[in-house]
Amino acid sequence: MEYIFSLEFIYLIASVTYILGLKMLGHPETARRGNLIAAFGMTLAIIGTIFLYQGEVPDLIYYLIGTAILIGTVIGWGIAKKVGMTKMPELVSLFNGMGGASAAIIGLIEFEHYVGDQLSVLTIIAGLIIGSISFSGSMIAWAKLNGTLNKPLRLPAYNITNNIILLAILAFGAYMVTTGNDSQLYIYLLFFAALTYGVLFVMPIGGADMPVVISLLNSFTGLAAAFGGFLYGNMVMLTGGILVGSAGTILTFAMCNAMNRPLSAVIFGAFGEGSVAADPSKKAAQGNIKKTTPSDAAILLNYASKVIIVPGYGLAVAQAQHVIHELELILEKKGVEVKYAIHPVAGRMPGHMNVLLAETNVDYDKLVEMEDINSDFQNTDAVLVVGANDVVNPAAHNDPSSPIYGMPILEVENAKSIIINKRSMNPGYAGIENELFFNQKTSMLFGDAKDVLTKLVQELKNM
Ligand code: NDP
Repeated sequence: MEYIFSLEFIYLIASVTYILGLKMLGHPETARRGNLIAAFGMTLAIIGTIFLYQGEVPDLIYYLIGTAILIGTVIGWGIAKKVGMTKMPELVSLFNGMGGASAAIIGLIEFEHYVGDQLSVLTIIAGLIIGSISFSGSMIAWAKLNGTLNKPLRLPAYNITNNIILLAILAFGAYMVTTGNDSQLYIYLLFFAALTYGVLFVMPIGGADMPVVISLLNSFTGLAAAFGGFLYGNMVMLTGGILVGSAGTILTFAMCNAMNRPLSAVIFGAFGEGSVAADPSKKAAQGNIKKTTPSDAAILLNYASKVIIVPGYGLAVAQAQHVIHELELILEKKGVEVKYAIHPVAGRMPGHMNVLLAETNVDYDKLVEMEDINSDFQNTDAVLVVGANDVVNPAAHNDPSSPIYGMPILEVENAKSIIINKRSMNPGYAGIENELFFNQKTSMLFGDAKDVLTKLVQELKNM
């Protein structure tokens, strides 16, 4: 019985909830519950730590912890409630930065208590460096995503400069560990050097690559927290940190694979700064486009027997997820078979389309992953592309000079007819033309996704 009220037992339960929660996040149907379960575990661990900690704690510390929790909860809750789906990467970046800062602060505070104990100092220095990079890097990523920092800033020979700074930081850290130096000044110097490196590391990376960078920084924060857990011998912090670190790493590589770009190209490249769009020497697709209207598009869909919907970033921007679901239900009522083709990086964060469509209770069996649906396009009468661009761009197959060459795409060009909804001929995230718009089988249905789909639904209802 005593064990049940011990911190070890509470930490064990919390660790199990993290693992369970993470597993449940893997499917839209269970994701919400998974999130709540892990959050419950985290709350349990925090409450347990506050009330069951055995050491001497002055009362003031309890008041400070209580106040911090209150302020953090109110701010976090308020922001998370209000944030739009397309702003989610920004929010993740901001919250991740706070995690990095916490890990770095642990290092700053604990350093003086562990001088002389080489393993602990190594742990502290590692957590301090990684946490600081994660904090300042995440803040830059956040500012890039919300548009505050919209110009890439690249120092001359920035890759070499950055690597030299990183090596200097590591050498300085190694010096602190091996010599047992107890200088507070040095530890603050290390802190500021790591913060500076975080800024310089993220600054040159293209704004549109930020989700990948955020995922990478997320894994850094996890690692920094794990070092904290190791330092304190705190199992729940260690487990949580390792889970965040490994999940972040897996996600980073999964995103890179889906875009067919090595991580080195993300970190050292300049993709997504509109560089291609801004460069007139880059070849633009030529030819005429065919425009269509909601009523003509409705006729096409009405008489199709098989329709595939391709959702993209524009669907999220327009918040058109409910009306697309309505469209799907009407078509099905008319005997049309409807599926959604989900590209792994459609939108601006992994799983963006799944989350968006789950919000409207679309049947999960209808969401088909790229690998499974690509062979279906050739037997499909009509494809309706809504606010998606790069993920259906055949240049990924046909044009070796294209920046997206090699990226796996949804092969919609194999369908019998294609309707593309977007507002203009403007390019998507990669800043490049899309030859699909000029395909003979394609009709462009211009307009805001929500407006156009609402009209389409109305037309179909009247048929
Ligand atoms: P894209 O950014 O390629 O295209 C979105 C299109 O939506 C635009 O061309 C835009 O055209 C249109 N659009 C915008 N607003 C609206 C609206 N209100 N109504 C209708 N259309 C609208 O998005 P995709 O989803 O096709 O591709 C995602 C891209 O993001 C990929 O290149 C991917 O690699 C990248 N990426 C994805 C990550 C992820 O984790 N998911 C991470 C990092 C990058 P217009 O302005 O003419 O309306």
